[in-house]
Amino acid sequence: MNHVIIIGGGLSGLTCAYYLSQKKYKVTLIEASPKFGGRTYSLINDEFNDIYDNGQHVMMGCYYETLKLIADLGNRDKVEIQKSLEIPFVHEDGKTIYLKSPKLFYPLNLAAAMMNFKLFSFKERLKIIDFLTDILFSADKDICDLSVIEWLMEKNQDEESIRKFWEILIVGTMNTTAEKASAQVFKKVLSEVFFSSSKSSSMVIPQIGLSELFIEPILNSLKNSGNCFSNTERLISLIVDQNRVVKITTNKNEYHNFDDIILSIPPHALEKIDIKNIKGELLITDFQMAMREIKYSPILNAHFWLKKNPFTEKFYSLIDSEIHWLFNHGSYISLTTSAAEYSIEKERKEIFIEFCSELEKYFPIFNSEMVIDYKIIKEKRATIIPDCTSVKLRNNIFSPFENMKFAGDWTITDLPGTIESAILSGRKASDSFA
Ligand SMILES: Cc1cc2nc3c(=O)[nH]c(=O)nc-3n(C[C@H](O)[C@H](O)[C@H](O)COP(=O)(O)OP(=O)(O)OC[C@H]3O[C@@H](n4cnc5c(N)ncnc54)[C@H](O)[C@@H]3O)c2cc1C
Repeated sequence: MNHVIIIGGGLSGLTCAYYLSQKKYKVTLIEASPKFGGRTYSLINDEFNDIYDNGQHVMMGCYYETLKLIADLGNRDKVEIQKSLEIPFVHEDGKTIYLKSPKLFYPLNLAAAMMNFKLFSFKERLKIIDFLTDILFSADKDICDLSVIEWLMEKNQDEESIRKFWEILIVGTMNTTAEKASAQVFKKVLSEVFFSSSKSSSMVIPQIGLSELFIEPILNSLKNSGNCFSNTERLISLIVDQNRVVKITTNKNEYHNFDDIILSIPPHALEKIDIKNIKGELLITDFQMAMREIKYSPILNAHFWLKKNPFTEKFYSLIDSEIHWLFNHGSYISLTTSAAEYSIEKERKEIFIEFCSELEKYFPIFNSEMVIDYKIIKEKRATIIPDCTSVKLRNNIFSPFENMKFAGDWTITDLPGTIESAILSGRKASDSFA
């Protein structure tokens, strides 16, 4: 039986381990931190006995690999998928305007949703639809060197629609600004969200924590199939001979008996691995050099426990606010700021006070005295920045060794660094084995 060692127990490594074990490969999964799940994990607020996630993860109907994995793990009934697109956009004055697709044939329903989206003038709405339809006909090569802002300007999008619509979509899906984001990746995102199926733009809302949704069932499945996983075990070095990895050293073990290795760790972690030949000489690899050029963007999440919850919708998108999303979990709400370079440097108390006054502005039904507890989670390297440089790097990063492969949200998936990209990469890595 072939033995595959997978380094990194985030969603990409876990997915790869799961599908390889289903194919009866012998798998060893090695994770550096005490917990599995990487950038997706759940915590518990003991005082209220509530499970909450490190960050509210926005998922959509176009997360095909993710939804397949959820179904394979037997958790399909643990996620709610909107019947059709419906997003409440909230204005500073408390007014809510819905982007809602009516019961029409797809994709006519999307055009109708946009036409009814009263946030913009009739002319602006037509321009947005025109831009969206243009995506179907524009070639990647024409936009590969453009940032999203350059592309939007080229396509005559108004400042108002960029600020109130496109920015929200870009920051929410790519975790960076229109100035930095690559037009090519954004085109892929728009094609997936708006034009891949009738349900692709629906929001997917997990009813349980991410650990219960993904991590626990995968670890259980690995255990039941007799496979090994180990935490607090960090890969330190790889020894290479005749173009193959022949030895793996971690802080706990040395591994010689394996056939293949999959590195499912982020670029900044890959950079730190020592790669040596059998004489012990350090090798300088192109892929590690390339990793240094990848940049990251932070995400800030605040979870507020409420003595009285005044919110009626399951989630809201806030226009022109430091808070991009509010997700309503009943006893608590989760607030997300993507591309949070500025906010992340602030003290937790300061963030709490600012978020409270922002919510009071946007939701007259809310007042800060309703908050009885809060947690603030800062993730400095939440995702890579999908800029033009990273697109070129990602498309040109290949493993130099015969028995070594990569997985991870940063690999060649054409998608921004997302759950879908991580799971797709893990599945693709497993598919490369017979
Ligand atoms: C706060 C936050 C909010 C997010 N919001 C969204 C969202 O709304 N929608 C969405 O789709 N995505 C979102 N993402 C992104 C998503 O979480 C990631 O894209 C995905 O989890 C990446 O999975 P991965 O397996 O590629 O990497 P990781 O999760 O980073 O996993 C890599 C693992 O490798 C381990 N590791 C590193 N070095 C070593 C070593 N030397 N030896 C052994 N193990 C090692 C790490 O500890 C880690 O567990 C968000 C991320 C964050 C942080």
